[in-house]
Amino acid sequence: MDRDTIRAVVRAAPRVLELRELPAPPVGPGEVRVRIRAVGICGGDLHYFEGRGRVTNPNRALVVGHEGAGVVDAVGPGVADLRPGDRVVIDPQVGWCGHCDHCLRGARHLCPRRVDMGYMTDGACRDLVTLPRACVYPLPHHLAWDAAVGIHGLAATVHALEQVPYRMDASVVVLGTGPAGLYFLQLLAAGWAARQVVAVGRNAGRLALARRLGAHEVVDARAVELVDAVAALTPGGADLVVEATGAQSVQERAVDLVAPRGTVLTYSPGLAAIPFEQVVRKEVRLVGSTGVTGCMRTAVRLVAAGKVDTAALVTDRYPLTETQAAFEAATADDKGGFVKAMVTL
Ligand SMILES: [Zn+2]
Ligand SMILES: [Zn+2]
Repeated sequence: MDRDTIRAVVRAAPRVLELRELPAPPVGPGEVRVRIRAVGICGGDLHYFEGRGRVTNPNRALVVGHEGAGVVDAVGPGVADLRPGDRVVIDPQVGWCGHCDHCLRGARHLCPRRVDMGYMTDGACRDLVTLPRACVYPLPHHLAWDAAVGIHGLAATVHALEQVPYRMDASVVVLGTGPAGLYFLQLLAAGWAARQVVAVGRNAGRLALARRLGAHEVVDARAVELVDAVAALTPGGADLVVEATGAQSVQERAVDLVAPRGTVLTYSPGLAAIPFEQVVRKEVRLVGSTGVTGCMRTAVRLVAAGKVDTAALVTDRYPLTETQAAFEAATADDKGGFVKAMVTL
C-alpha cells in the first residue's frame, strides 16, 4: 500500500465483503480527514450486508460501517478548532441540504436529502474518511475506542428519549437487550431516575448484562408468557414501553404493556400492525424516532462522565482484514455471549 491508497472493506455482494485498495480521499474546505481506528458493527449495517430490509442501494458496492472513531489526520481550509492528532467520533449522517424546513429547524435527520454512511454512501471501514466538520466530535483523551464506537448508537437513543415526555418516578419496560435496549435502560435508570426499569430479552448473558447496567428486573421471554410476566411486575401497566427488538411478535404486544396515558416509544422500524383500538381507549402516546441530530455531544459527555457504559457492550474484536467474520458473528442465529462487534484498524 503506498501513501496515496488506503485499505477499505467493500460489500461486493450480499454477505460478501472484500478488502480493496482505494485512493486516499482528499480534504477540502470545511472538511476533516479522520484516520479511522475503530468501527462498531451496528444492526443498521446488517440490512445492507444481507441485502434485506429498506436498503437504498442494494446493488451498489459500498464501503461498510458507520460507527467510526479515530484520530484527525488533516483539516481543510476554514477548520480552526480541530488539529491532527485529536481523537474524534463521527456522525455518519454526512448529507443534508441545509435549506429545507427540517434542516432550518435543526432536524437535519429528517431532510429529504439525508445521506448516511455505510449503506447510502461509502462507510467507515477504511483507513481514511473525509467528512464535513459538522460530522466530527472531539473525544476526551481517556476514552477508549471500545467506548467511542458506541457513542453514535447511544446518541440515537438519547435523541429518541428526547421525543418522550419526561415523567418523574416512572415505571419503564425496555423490550430488547441488543445494544439499543442496553443503552436505553442505562439512560432510563441513570438519566430519568426511573422508579422501575424492566428489561425483556431472550438471551441469558444479555439479561445478566442488563441487570449489571441498571435494570431492576429482567424477564426472559423464552421462559414465560411476555405480557403476563411483565404485567405481574408492572401492575396497571408501564408509564413508558420502549420497543427495541424489531421483532413483529414483540412489537404487537407493546401497546398491551403500557398504562393508560402512557407512551410507547417505537425505536426499531416495525412490521407490526398498530392496535389503534387500544391506542384510543388507553389514550396511548406513540412516539417514533430516527437519527441523532444534536445528541452526539450529549452522548460523548454521558460516556466520558461514566454515566453510560458503552464499552461493556463490545464483546468481539476483529482486525479490518477480518471484517467479514465480524459481520457473520453479528448475524449469527445463536449469538451466545455476543453483544456487539468492533473492527479495529
Ligand atoms: Zn448504528
Ligand atoms: Zn434539508
